[in-house]
Amino acid sequence: MTNRRVFILQSVVGTSALASGMAMAAAPLVAETDANAKSLGYVADSAKADKTKYPKHTKDQSCSTCALYQGKTAPQGACPLFAGKEVVAKGWCSAWAKKA
Ligand code: SF4
Repeated sequence: MTNRRVFILQSVVGTSALASGMAMAAAPLVAETDANAKSLGYVADSAKADKTKYPKHTKDQSCSTCALYQGKTAPQGACPLFAGKEVVAKGWCSAWAKKA
């Protein structure tokens, strides 16, 4: 009986630890192939931005220097243009706006 009780307790503790771990996990990254990402020219590496399509892009532009970037720590963070997903700090898209 004691073993059974210990087993149940371990299961409950294990399950809640797993659940809280999942809650803390970062949102999935935006894929460059997502329709929204494609329409905004999003790339996970700013250096790979399409220079022909976006001639105003400069190498100092990246999500981490964008006013819309909500990530507090590298390497990734939220962006309101991609709800439920995160962008890479060194990424870039054509909606980039200089951080004030
Ligand atoms: S709007 Fe800014 S933070 Fe969002 S993907 Fe584009 S460059 Fe990155």
